[in-house]
Amino acid sequence: MFSLLKKINKVGYMYRISQGINQEIIQDINRTLLLRYLRKEGMCSRVHLSNLTGLKQATVTNIMKDFIEWGLVKEVGFLSGNKGRRCIGIEVNNDCYRVIGVRLARKNYMVGLFDLTGKCIADSKVDIASLESSEPIFIIQSMIETVKRTVKDNAGDKILAMGVAVPGPFIQKKNRIGLITETQGWNEIDIQEEFQKAINLPVYLEHDANAGAFAYMWDLKEKYNNEILIYFAAGQGIGSGIVMEGEIYQGAIGTAGEIGHITIDFNGPKCACGNNGCLEKYTSSIEYAKAVNKELKPARQYSFKEIIALYKEGNMVCREKYRKACRLMGYGIINLINLYNPGIIIIGDEMIKVDAGVMYEEICNTVRSGIIPEIWNEVSIRMSEYQGDPMLNGAAMIAINDIFDKPEQFIIK
Ligand SMILES: [Zn+2]
Repeated sequence: MFSLLKKINKVGYMYRISQGINQEIIQDINRTLLLRYLRKEGMCSRVHLSNLTGLKQATVTNIMKDFIEWGLVKEVGFLSGNKGRRCIGIEVNNDCYRVIGVRLARKNYMVGLFDLTGKCIADSKVDIASLESSEPIFIIQSMIETVKRTVKDNAGDKILAMGVAVPGPFIQKKNRIGLITETQGWNEIDIQEEFQKAINLPVYLEHDANAGAFAYMWDLKEKYNNEILIYFAAGQGIGSGIVMEGEIYQGAIGTAGEIGHITIDFNGPKCACGNNGCLEKYTSSIEYAKAVNKELKPARQYSFKEIIALYKEGNMVCREKYRKACRLMGYGIINLINLYNPGIIIIGDEMIKVDAGVMYEEICNTVRSGIIPEIWNEVSIRMSEYQGDPMLNGAAMIAINDIFDKPEQFIIK
């Protein structure tokens, strides 16, 4: 049993033993294990999965028979196997089912349709400023309408579930956003309930940075070796998502990783969270734009997009303020590294669009001199090169992950 549990952990399925394990649960675990391996490996053979999981070939064959019947897995031509023998390749079926991913940001939201490999098939983006009102309930209604339109536009597709990534601090246990700086009223809304009332699908809510971390973990496929992976989201807010052994680390109520609200100057300005001198107050794209506008004093405030253009033209104020924001992010990252000792940190979201090279340089310079060399040598800091939006994709992947955890509940009606 122990070695099986180790294997389960290897694909991130944390089964907590507090009760005996019945045959049905063993079957559930085996199904999940196979789907997770198949997703990580891509196209492979049943024998390969049997070798990876230690399950008997007959067990793999039986489970795959169900999966093929349910439309979760498909056969895809021949692979050359041992001793020149050919065997049939299998992979996660990307034709049969769909999930919806939604990402709410401070200034816009996105809705996408995904296949079961996590690939985005169609997406749309709506600016909150274009809506009649920026009241949270209005934004939710608009998001619901966009989701309904996506479902209608793809009426032939079997949509199984929906994942929603939201800014935070997000109280996972209560399905509520604790606070979105710069906005009000979100903590009164049960977002999951609003969606479930309107759309007849299981809905999963996740903090946006957690969704981003999850998407990167998926994207690494077989190169992800259960290490601690942190996604540092430097956007309209600052947050981080932590993945450990293939699972999102939530903390007691789901707010772990709120790096935007650590103090970097206790004499600094009061933040809406109650703390003083929060990292987010110095490094988010909203604060960066504010700092540039304060110094340049234009007749009309520059948007973040306009500031990027000014930066590219060589504007010194934009450049100086950016370097400073990135340097300060480095201090936040030092805290993350000292707390979690991650193997991989990926930095993403809209602040990297200004100048990823300069950001990398400033962050690495700060971090290298702020942690002991033994730790520095073992952490890989990377700038995001993700195709698409990892937080939107991650929202969908969280829904898919749950389908893989208990496929029979989604498929067998
Ligand atoms: Zn704060």
